[in-house]
Amino acid sequence: MSKQEECRTCKDTGHPNQLIGFKKSTRVHSVTGRPYWDLVNQDGTDHIHKENGPDTPTKTPQNGQLLIDGTSVVKAIEILTNSVNALVFAICSETELQRVQARAMISK
Ligand SMILES: [Zn+2]
Repeated sequence: MSKQEECRTCKDTGHPNQLIGFKKSTRVHSVTGRPYWDLVNQDGTDHIHKENGPDTPTKTPQNGQLLIDGTSVVKAIEILTNSVNALVFAICSETELQRVQARAMISK
């Protein structure tokens, strides 16, 4: 095993001093034919990167990037679509009853 070094991925997520080593894998790259190198802990077990706790996001926006997970995007589009539909309905409404219904849709 090569010398131990600090895992940069773990350090980036707020867990410094995670010493890891590199172990030549039995898997080889299909194109280059070279073996992969697995990350191992000091005790020789496979290293799994530590992540932030549940209260903090695993990724922080960098360089002005806005990171949104897929669920948030779907939800945002859903809310936006409903609002636009309700707004169009309200504008096109002829009767007071339709306006009331449209307001009910918006407040949902
Ligand atoms: Zn790690």
